[in-house]
Amino acid sequence: MKQPTIANKDVTLHILKRFGIRMSKKLGQNFLIDEHVVQSIVKAANITQDDAVLEIGPGIGTLTQGLAEAGAAVTAVEIDRRLIEVLAKTLEGYENIRVVHGDILRIDIGKEVAAPRYKVVANLPYYITTPIIMGLLEAHMPVDILVTMVQKEVAQRMVAVPGTKDYGSLSVAVQYYTKPEIMFIVPPASFIPPPAVDSAVIRCTVREKPPVEVNERIFFRVVKAAFAQRRKTLSNTLKTTGVPAETLKVILEKAGIDGGRRGETLSLEEFAAIANVWIQ
Ligand code: SAM
Repeated sequence: MKQPTIANKDVTLHILKRFGIRMSKKLGQNFLIDEHVVQSIVKAANITQDDAVLEIGPGIGTLTQGLAEAGAAVTAVEIDRRLIEVLAKTLEGYENIRVVHGDILRIDIGKEVAAPRYKVVANLPYYITTPIIMGLLEAHMPVDILVTMVQKEVAQRMVAVPGTKDYGSLSVAVQYYTKPEIMFIVPPASFIPPPAVDSAVIRCTVREKPPVEVNERIFFRVVKAAFAQRRKTLSNTLKTTGVPAETLKVILEKAGIDGGRRGETLSLEEFAAIANVWIQ
């Protein structure tokens, strides 16, 4: 049975009132009320009935409904117990939706999403955007793309190129695992309550193979150290890894990187060159 569209201010306010829900700031609850945004997210993720989707934080089911209407088999993980009861009602009749009560950072995702490969689509709780995205990527989950709503400023950091103020360890990590693109910007008025900042939908297409061949543990250790003190040169900031200055000099020379440069000017390939001559 088709339910009325949830992505609408009046319907959302009605649902919240009916179930006596006061939204939790702590859980990053800003619900979408704009049907165009929901449809644009579904389109950006290119959802078809062949897709399995993991949705993180369905809220009252706004985006979940859009995904289900497009035919995807949706597994939606929601931490707020009060909303589980709401979702049972708002998504009643959709046989292609399974709601799981749990914390996305703790549950065994592999057990909950039965499909061999899946897409991640979400209007993320902003207080844990980075742990969620990095957790999925670092664990090499069988994800093809992630289409997520994040703070605009975080999206800009994910796509940033070397030499810009937004470029940092998040840019390197996201670009190592995926090809990120900002799809569109979403203003605060598209949510209840409106967040303090603009949001953006970012599409991260997971790479079959990383763009550089490295030992990941060493690569990310170097990257983290290089950005730990942004204003310092590589020769200085890489000392925080505990490697003596003399050894560092040799490593940077072998990698062909000038130790007087700052981490924020290095490309993925240049970080890889350092990681590949690093002592194991
Ligand atoms: N998808 C809905 C929408 O677009 O209207 C709600 C999005 S709201 C920004 C984020 C949702 O994530 C909330 O429903 C919140 O309760 C849920 N959430 C917060 N932390 C979570 C966690 N650790 N695991 C699962 N869900 C979480």
